[in-house]
Amino acid sequence: MNTDRKALWAVRQSALPTVVRPCPDCSGTRHRPTGRIRVNASGKLLDVWLLLGCTACDRTSKVPVHERVHVSSLEPARLVAYENNDPAVVRELTMSASLAAKNAYRLDWTGTWALEIRTPLHALDDPTPLTVQVGFELPVPVRVERLLMLGLGVSRGTVRRLVADGRVRLPLALDAKAHRDFELTVHAPGAAGAAQRPELLGAPDAERTGPIRIGPADRPPHRSARSVTAGA
Ligand SMILES: [Zn+2]
Repeated sequence: MNTDRKALWAVRQSALPTVVRPCPDCSGTRHRPTGRIRVNASGKLLDVWLLLGCTACDRTSKVPVHERVHVSSLEPARLVAYENNDPAVVRELTMSASLAAKNAYRLDWTGTWALEIRTPLHALDDPTPLTVQVGFELPVPVRVERLLMLGLGVSRGTVRRLVADGRVRLPLALDAKAHRDFELTVHAPGAAGAAQRPELLGAPDAERTGPIRIGPADRPPHRSARSVTAGA
């Protein structure tokens, strides 16, 4: 495998999602994890809660993780992690879509991620398609179109044209939300009849200069990896 033909786009975590649900004490709805987990034992039965803090009034509220479960039903290591407020478990519980569904609250992923882009030098007329591996460090749902806008540094309209012309090939619909790893390919002009559209990647808003502007060739070498902060 020629790894020079692979680009890596990593959706990196920059923050935990906000838990959105009504606060019993104020009109606020936004909650952040306090970093704590509470375990209550009653005989052999355990209750486990994730503790959240209201961002408006600081009130602590509890999200049931386990209710009245027998101590033997939990992995000992898991129980130790709960008792020690293990940050990895706090992170996992806070991001858990199933816990959110079970407790009828919403997760707001705004500001939780940034796209880190590592793109190899890619010759403009190279007929070999460039494979882009998109990896998710957190299960944030991201619209595919938005990933492409950030990854390629082009406008929404350009992304749509590239996909329509077969220059960018995807396993997902543009308006789908991805939240796990996938691969896409970028094809040189000439592939799929794109030669007639040499202006495709030269959109002014791309702030780039070449016809296929996904390589670092037109950037200083130290910028071979860049990070794009995403709002949502
Ligand atoms: Zn509150």
